[in-house]
Amino acid sequence: MEKPETIENQECPICKTKNLSMTQEEIEIPFFGKTFVFSMTCSNCKYHVADVEAAETKEPIKQTIEISSEEDMKIRVIKSSQATIKIPHITTITPGPASTGYITNIEGILRRVKHQVEVLADEAEDNDEKKKAKKMIKKLNKVMWGDEKLKITIEDPSGNSAIISDKTESSKLR
Ligand SMILES: [Zn+2]
Repeated sequence: MEKPETIENQECPICKTKNLSMTQEEIEIPFFGKTFVFSMTCSNCKYHVADVEAAETKEPIKQTIEISSEEDMKIRVIKSSQATIKIPHITTITPGPASTGYITNIEGILRRVKHQVEVLADEAEDNDEKKKAKKMIKKLNKVMWGDEKLKITIEDPSGNSAIISDKTESSKLR
């Protein structure tokens, strides 16, 4: 692994102050290949973007995995800013201007989703909505403890995403 390269004091595209730092790192991911990880963060206005990109050109992907044990929490996930993550009956994480790319694992994805649902539960004014969100949180906890199964699908037309496991099923992205 090479050392991350950081350039400080760049001009921020949003607030125009020179508080932007840019980081780029090149890492080797088993069964995925050489990958660039980069991010830009402004300490003044909190502007933040991040993404991952494979060094070699990849085909569009659609991969599904069924999570069934605590052990599965460690499965590595590469999610680019172009990726859509679908968790049936819970949520869909869609690409867009606020979407970032990162390398994480199944647990990391589930924690992000749980946080989103918790925010929703807090903000919900409707009691039914609150109940629904609380049910989802319960379900996510059970999945993280390995007590319940859950399917996760990741679709990425750029091909810069992957679920690295021999349990992953690939199909054609349409
Ligand atoms: Zn800024």
